[in-house]
Amino acid sequence: MDRKEKILDILKEREKISVKELSRIFKVSEMTIYRDIRELENSGKLKRKYGVVYLNKEDKSKNFVIKQCPVCDKPITRPRPYKIILENDETVEACCEHCGLFLHQKYREQQVNAITYDFITDSPITAFDAYFVVGSEAVPCCSPSVIPFSTKETALKFQKGFGGEVLDFVEAYNRLTKRIKIEINSIKKKN
Ligand SMILES: [Zn+2]
Ligand SMILES: [Zn+2]
Repeated sequence: MDRKEKILDILKEREKISVKELSRIFKVSEMTIYRDIRELENSGKLKRKYGVVYLNKEDKSKNFVIKQCPVCDKPITRPRPYKIILENDETVEACCEHCGLFLHQKYREQQVNAITYDFITDSPITAFDAYFVVGSEAVPCCSPSVIPFSTKETALKFQKGFGGEVLDFVEAYNRLTKRIKIEINSIKKKN
């Protein structure tokens, strides 16, 4: 049985458990536990509020319309997806920060705002003020993964465990959109 299944088993016994306690039980870092529970949260199996996790007892099929990511067509299952707010107050959502950055490319002619959520604390951040770990081993959704943090300090701490690069919004945007250009160019060369 892997750690994620064991976490679900523990939650079936108890109503809730803190990330700290899970890290003690499994003798792994809190970062590792956060990665496990993020995956469980994305698949709708549990809910998280700050440092405490609960089993998700709500039936997702009720009153729940699954939206699709406009960039990669994946269903948007995250409880707090990347959100871009356009000039007309319309919002567009992406499955993750990776696709979120590509959405910015699409809307680059417009004045927009964007909201993301700190990977550890879940607190909302204006994406333009966030720090992103790009291309780490942790790939909660699309690859190369782009994981948001509200402070550079927590981003660097995450990078220590999972690798990748710590970039601000503009750097992350350029890194991702440029990367695709390179890929397209290399495809052209092959032909
Ligand atoms: Zn996507
Ligand atoms: Zn994604």
